[in-house]
Amino acid sequence: MENIYLDYAASTPVDPLVVNEMSLYYHEIYGNPSSIHQQGQSSREAIDEAREKVARLIGAKSTEIVFTSGGTEANNFALKGIALAHKDKGNHIITSNIEHPSITNVCMILGQSGYRITFIPVDEYGMVNPDDVKKAINPETILISIMQANNEIGTIQPLEEIAGIAREAGVLIHTDAVQTTGHIDVDVGKLGVDLLSLSAHKLYGPKGVGALYIRSGVNITPLIHGSGHEDGHRSGTENSAGIAGFGKAAELAEEELNNEILRQTGLRNYLIQELSHRIDNLKLNGHPGKRLPNNTNISVEGINGTDLLLSLDTEGIYISTGSACMAENSTPSQVLTAIGLSPAMARSALRMTIGRWTTREQIDRVIEILPGTVTHLRAITHEGQQ
Ligand code: PLP
Repeated sequence: MENIYLDYAASTPVDPLVVNEMSLYYHEIYGNPSSIHQQGQSSREAIDEAREKVARLIGAKSTEIVFTSGGTEANNFALKGIALAHKDKGNHIITSNIEHPSITNVCMILGQSGYRITFIPVDEYGMVNPDDVKKAINPETILISIMQANNEIGTIQPLEEIAGIAREAGVLIHTDAVQTTGHIDVDVGKLGVDLLSLSAHKLYGPKGVGALYIRSGVNITPLIHGSGHEDGHRSGTENSAGIAGFGKAAELAEEELNNEILRQTGLRNYLIQELSHRIDNLKLNGHPGKRLPNNTNISVEGINGTDLLLSLDTEGIYISTGSACMAENSTPSQVLTAIGLSPAMARSALRMTIGRWTTREQIDRVIEILPGTVTHLRAITHEGQQ
């Protein structure tokens, strides 16, 4: 039986066209992009071309893209780089309480170094209220960082409105767009953000490559010093094959975007609707409408999510209980607790994220298998309690 991968939010398979593109830069054009011979210059051209493609996907100028080792580094760079560059202006940063650990933990570290962090709570759908952000701004505020959409529950934030508030107050705004880029329309101009983080492996590119968009004119302190690569923003010989792959992935994402939004929204709605009909005491986590097209997150009362994940694993169906980063941690997800779920409901959560190669037949098989597995696990739990 064919395996069914429903964990695209954790990582996507690399598109074969991306692999093709990358192999050229491992086997034929392998020179150091800083070398002045033809080999080196061809590598440099590949990086320049990829920078154009990534910039185009988010409506930026190519000079505004700095390649990094992934989304985690982009988030670290944004927060620490702005905190360092603007410490004379103030020491206050605003974020939400459902950010990825690569934001939350950086804030914790900054908090230990004299910065003050305000964590804005979210509502039952995981939505930030822009008024709460407005009220939190004070003369010391130097940065607001709110993710565009959440990696666990898929809720899409009112980012344009929040960015408008930031602009009016003269405060810089960063967004973690790791889960949105290539999945919904992401345009830095329309959003009105100053900094935006990206990761290639969430959009059918390779792992270990990402980027930070830095609006022209924004002052940011580099974190990695050396020979001054990436226009002085991030030293280290560029991962030319990975960056070329990221560029190809960005180009494909742009071509497929509108069709995939429609196709994946249809499949996701079908999955949610059928599971809700077939499983009692099921709760959809996240916003019903303002959510990523690929995201289904449900709590199934009376079930331990990990037990269900492992049962489905034996059937060749790969899902997640929260974000991949939380998988080895037994404490309930911070995101699910923040939207008001009890520890038991948080532990009963399942995340199913679809992608470019998910078919209707695969979703039908999940709809056929999952309700029976739930009934079986509920019966075992019930017996165990007697
Ligand atoms: N931000 C979000 C919202 C994510 O989902 C992830 C990865 O799961 C990251 C940041 C980190 O990206 P990377 O895996 O490229 O370090």
